[in-house]
Amino acid sequence: MTSDILDFDRQHIWHPYTSMRDPLPVREVVSASGVRLRLSDGRELIDGMSSWWAAIHGYNHPVLNAAITNQLSRMAHVMFGGLTHEPAVELCRTLVNMTPPSLTRVFLADSGSVAVEVAIKMAFQFWICQGRPEKSRLLTIRGGYHGDTFAAMSVCDPVNGMHEIFANVLPRHYFLPRPRCRFGEDWDEADAAPVRDVLERHHREIAAVILEPVVQGAGGMHFYHPMYLKRVRELCDAFDVLLIADEIATGFGRTGKLFACEHAEISPDILCLGKALTGGYMTLAATLATDRVAEGVCAGRPGVFMHGPTFMANPLACAVARSSLEVLVKNNWAAQSARIEALLNQGLDPCRKLPYVYNVRVLGSIGVVELREPVQMAEIQTAFIEEGVWVRPFGRLVYVMPPYIMEDQDLAVLTKSLVRVVEVHCS
Ligand SMILES: *Cc1c(COP(=O)(O)O)cnc(C)c1O
Repeated sequence: MTSDILDFDRQHIWHPYTSMRDPLPVREVVSASGVRLRLSDGRELIDGMSSWWAAIHGYNHPVLNAAITNQLSRMAHVMFGGLTHEPAVELCRTLVNMTPPSLTRVFLADSGSVAVEVAIKMAFQFWICQGRPEKSRLLTIRGGYHGDTFAAMSVCDPVNGMHEIFANVLPRHYFLPRPRCRFGEDWDEADAAPVRDVLERHHREIAAVILEPVVQGAGGMHFYHPMYLKRVRELCDAFDVLLIADEIATGFGRTGKLFACEHAEISPDILCLGKALTGGYMTLAATLATDRVAEGVCAGRPGVFMHGPTFMANPLACAVARSSLEVLVKNNWAAQSARIEALLNQGLDPCRKLPYVYNVRVLGSIGVVELREPVQMAEIQTAFIEEGVWVRPFGRLVYVMPPYIMEDQDLAVLTKSLVRVVEVHCS
């Protein structure tokens, strides 16, 4: 059975960022519960990835299961054009209440990348409607990741992103160097100088700055100083440029604050949320905007915001998202995060003295071991599975962002395995 599944998979199915000619091996998962994934060979793996930041409450959660099955018995889906429903309204009410007070208008999108497309489109349409269509460029930071669709791709890191191969089809935007001051280090005002410089010269054509606040995720797991974000906010205000915060990875408590913008006590004009929004159950994302942006977008012709996906506000996704946000509060995410942060710091500490390790950093429930050389993916993946944990490195990064419910013993197994695998397979 398994070999048939894996054979078919290998021949016919694309996985994220993989080759169809020479795919790396995949494993078959048959079920998952709590923090454990069960493979078809009977092995159980402790999940260090939360299925890419999403499954914050673990798998097969009774409360989330109930939310989605209750909604299923009422209606799985209905179009959102001309109709509304309680799951969408209650989810958006919760989002408006938990995000900064100025973010009052919610657009529900089907994935993180789409939430970013929507944010960018809002920013452009806002300026078109203000009679300033020349504000049609974006400004972003190198080393960012905002998704795989075209507008999102155009603001991903130009070197390790997809700029080179798609150079002829991507719009050209402005890029800032990555801030040098890391989170937890001293702030150096020189870090803000390039932002001021580019905005001074180009603000007439820049619609918005788009960035991942404090933690740059898939572009390199870089943690930068919150003061940088504070300066960006001030400069955006000074130069009449919108600020889009992409909190798709950082949102909902992952960095130790409910939203990473809180590290700098700033609030964006447009906020993108996704990943953990549904507790990892279904694909759903949201783009929130201020009154000013929303009113501005709808002020001129055509008078409406030009976006509306078929599966917008899917009721199953909204119901499970709302439930996940309730569990987040009920479980005291802040205490969960502080506990995991302490254990990751302690557990990953042995890596700090390894000569082939460049840097070890922990923020909230994110732990990163950055190596000097890229890892051998196939080899290291197998080594982790043999240790009984699920960790999926990329490039020079071995990192974990465990489900918030992971207990101390499992965290200890996870970090011990990580240290061992790094010692044996990365030296
Ligand atoms: C994952 C991610 C996205 C894209 O979300 P998808 O749901 O994969 O489309 C965008 N921005 C950030 C910061 C992300 O981490």
